[in-house]
Amino acid sequence: MDKTRKFKILGVGFGPANIALAAALEESGLLKDAHFFERAKETTWQPGMLINNSDIQNHPLRDLVTPRNPKSHYSFTNFLHVKGRLFEYLNTGLSYPYRIEYEQYVCWVASHFKDHVSYGINISKIEPLFSESSKHDVISGYRVIDQDGNAYECEHLVVAPGRTRYVPVEFEPLLSDRVVHLCDYLPAVTELASGKLPERICVIGGSQSAVELTADLADRFPLAKIHAVHRAYGFRQKDVSPFTNEVYFPEFVDEFYQASDETRSSIRGDLHLTNYSSSDLDVLDALYRKIYVQKIQGKQRIFLHRRSFARPLITFDDGRTHMAVCSRDRADEVEMTFDLVVLATGFKDLGVGEGREKYPAVLSDLVRYSELDRSGVIQVNRDYSVSLQTGYGGQAKCFLNGLCESTHGMGDAGSFSLLSLRSSEIIESIRSTENDVSASMNGVKVDAA
Ligand SMILES: Cc1cc2nc3c(=O)[nH]c(=O)nc-3n(C[C@H](O)[C@H](O)[C@H](O)COP(=O)(O)OP(=O)(O)OC[C@H]3O[C@@H](n4cnc5c(N)ncnc54)[C@H](O)[C@@H]3O)c2cc1C
Repeated sequence: MDKTRKFKILGVGFGPANIALAAALEESGLLKDAHFFERAKETTWQPGMLINNSDIQNHPLRDLVTPRNPKSHYSFTNFLHVKGRLFEYLNTGLSYPYRIEYEQYVCWVASHFKDHVSYGINISKIEPLFSESSKHDVISGYRVIDQDGNAYECEHLVVAPGRTRYVPVEFEPLLSDRVVHLCDYLPAVTELASGKLPERICVIGGSQSAVELTADLADRFPLAKIHAVHRAYGFRQKDVSPFTNEVYFPEFVDEFYQASDETRSSIRGDLHLTNYSSSDLDVLDALYRKIYVQKIQGKQRIFLHRRSFARPLITFDDGRTHMAVCSRDRADEVEMTFDLVVLATGFKDLGVGEGREKYPAVLSDLVRYSELDRSGVIQVNRDYSVSLQTGYGGQAKCFLNGLCESTHGMGDAGSFSLLSLRSSEIIESIRSTENDVSASMNGVKVDAA
């Protein structure tokens, strides 16, 4: 007997993007047919970066539901109300809540859907299913396979694994508990604090995370020297102009999606500092003042290497890394040994070139049925579904939830701003296929989750 479990809708990943989808599915009456897989043991939100006092970067009302349904039970405002903190929160005068509080909010929303989530399940493979009744190879659903080889089938799949970490190629072979991407920051420093205290730490990158981590490391390890290496002249301020921030309006998605490749690339260049290689002013000021006070006291421990890059040279048996910190402008380079190297180097977008990937690894087996551009980059429809080659496309859709910044614009990846509305669009697209769904599943009975 075929023991494969079958669902109408499956989700890979249960981070903010698919948690928002679960809320929208419930409010649309479709949750009973949906199930999600999350590789972590429980819901978390960027747990490696939950640094004390750091705040979120989206307006708190652009939460998991409010732009889609301001009356939803799952709003940040209702979370504060349920937790009995609404008045105190308002009294803090915070424009942006602490990240630790927003993480609690994300977990609180997720907790409502625990019957629809399997935790500790890492989906390693996605395969298309083909309709037996069709003369052509029409894709009628998807099979997802977990780390233990268990298979699950569905009509519609929503892939929301978050973006792949970007690790510069020279650091890829060095990744360890002493050379870490920012996502592994807290476990790495917790481990480091339990042994011989570090003397020298390097932070690579020019993002807000790089600025926050430089300051956090200086507080955490009061005897260590912290070296921040970045390519730009200095840490830059984010473009938070309300005019530029209209890029996070829903209308922008259509405008961006319809633009030519050249126009998209030009707009992205324009908008880079709204989200990348830049920081909020409060974080920049705090670091600048921290360094200034160190200088007043004659105890400078934070050193900035502007217009520079780091070249790893030797890894010692104890995990320390010997690196050259090189100027981009002169032949200068200085060699130093670091107890810890933190790569605040961000995440990959879909595309080609440095810091991009043609498709996320989990889609490898689907790619041969997908439309690709001339460089082999997977193509995505306006409804966030993977565009299938002629002949393969049927009713069953595979959506990318939170990976489409290169086609759908800045509000797509790396931001809460539009994920509630994206959920609606995905549901609308699923609904549009509803009449033909049973045919597309070839009469297979679908389990309720
Ligand atoms: C430090 C940091 C701070 C940020 N702060 C903000 C902010 O303030 N405001 C903002 O708008 N955005 C912020 N972002 C961007 C943030 O990543 C997104 O807003 C949000 O987390 C995206 O949600 P997601 O569900 O797409 O991805 P993720 O949050 O990455 O969630 C993806 C989930 O999928 C799971 N998963 C991955 N692969 C698999 C698999 N194969 N099988 C099963 N499960 C899988 C992962 O374990 C994870 O739980 C921040 C990002 C970082 C790194």
